[in-house]
Amino acid sequence: MATAVVIGGGIVGLSSAYYLQQEGFDVTIVDRGDFSDNCSYGNAGYVCPSHFVPLASPGIISQGLRWMLNPESPFYIKPRLDWGLISWGLKFVKHATPQNVAKNAVPLRDIALLSKKLYEDWLSLPGFEFAYQRKGLLEYFQTAEKEHHAHHTVKEALALGLAGTRVLTADEVQAMEPQVKLNIKGALYFECDAHLHPNAVMQQMQQYLRQQGVRFLPHATATEVEKQGNRITKVKAGNEWLSADVVVIATGSWSREVAKLVNVSLPLVGGRGYSMVFGNGELPLQHPAVLMEGRVALTPFDALHTRLGGTMEITNLDAPPRMNRVLGIVKAAQGYFPESNIPTPELKDVWYGYRPCSADGMPFIGRTEKYGNCIVATGHAMVGMSLGAATGKLVSELAAEKSTSVDLAPYAVHRFD
Ligand SMILES: Cc1cc2nc3c(=O)[nH]c(=O)nc-3n(C[C@H](O)[C@H](O)[C@H](O)COP(=O)(O)OP(=O)(O)OC[C@H]3O[C@@H](n4cnc5c(N)ncnc54)[C@H](O)[C@@H]3O)c2cc1C
Repeated sequence: MATAVVIGGGIVGLSSAYYLQQEGFDVTIVDRGDFSDNCSYGNAGYVCPSHFVPLASPGIISQGLRWMLNPESPFYIKPRLDWGLISWGLKFVKHATPQNVAKNAVPLRDIALLSKKLYEDWLSLPGFEFAYQRKGLLEYFQTAEKEHHAHHTVKEALALGLAGTRVLTADEVQAMEPQVKLNIKGALYFECDAHLHPNAVMQQMQQYLRQQGVRFLPHATATEVEKQGNRITKVKAGNEWLSADVVVIATGSWSREVAKLVNVSLPLVGGRGYSMVFGNGELPLQHPAVLMEGRVALTPFDALHTRLGGTMEITNLDAPPRMNRVLGIVKAAQGYFPESNIPTPELKDVWYGYRPCSADGMPFIGRTEKYGNCIVATGHAMVGMSLGAATGKLVSELAAEKSTSVDLAPYAVHRFD
């Protein structure tokens, strides 16, 4: 039986393991941690064809520079003399263009629609119940500028076939959310979106894979590979050398370092975000919501539990959390729910994770040129949960040398070379 070693136990790694096993591979999955936490746990859980605009888009640079001066703002780059960061920043600026947005809208839509369908398939696996709901996504706005932007986005979404996308008045949204008082001008509504409980899907997929005989190696950092000609034959993870017919690099924000092992240069940095769950019915919402001006994401998991998350902090992967950013999230949310009492969380109740952000906002999914049996699957930034199921499927199709469900050219691993 052919063997596959998957490096990284986030949603991309777990989904790859699942579909690789379906293709008949004997799968081992290794992680530097213990498989109980990474960016794929505390995120907002949006499964969102609505997110067809990549992170590198016009306006983000000027907005980001304005936000840099405010310690509670949703964006921050820790200035440091790091060539990887500088080089990523230069490429990011170059790609934050209307052309980058226009050429990637269809690929992002297609992979997201595929992923949504695959998550719906997962619901019929034994032991899977991850609060998946097709209630759409509301994007609240308070200003005329964002309202204008919302109308523009509706046209784009409808042109992409995302039916039901529309702008709602404040009264219409208030009727959809009768249990909270809203301070908004209106909302952009994406009927096409769904949401899920990320912690649940991660735990359930892990449990399922273990039952199916996938081997999990915790505390096993991949540090070396053995190469023979144009193939990777072994991966050293922890103290063990693992033989591999196929190697998958699904190491999220650490992928720049890991990709160097196979001579690939990935322009990628970690963008930290924070989240917290309010579990006493403080924000009894019916629908997930993005606060457009505040850049905060809210996800109701049930009647009592709502997750609040946000910020994009480009910083070292071992930097201590900054509570100012967390306060910024709570303050921003309070401005939209004037009659709700949103408590300030303590540090122990705050989760954070690092989004793997590529320099053009598009994931990397594909084989490396030099080593044909090595597949890279990372760089999903804000949409890794949404695209996780599809990414695993695509990895397995590559490994099995089948034609892929979507065209992988926009995700080429070597597109910056
Ligand atoms: C606040 C917040 C909200 C978000 N909301 C959403 C959302 O609503 N929808 C959405 O689609 N996305 C969302 N995201 C983004 C999403 O969470 C990420 O894109 C996604 O989780 C990335 O998954 P991954 O598998 O690539 O990486 P990760 O989940 O980070 O997993 C990578 C794994 O690789 C392991 N690893 C690293 N290096 C090595 C090594 N050398 N050897 C072995 N193992 C290694 C790490 O330990 C880690 O477990 C959000 C993110 C944040 C922070």
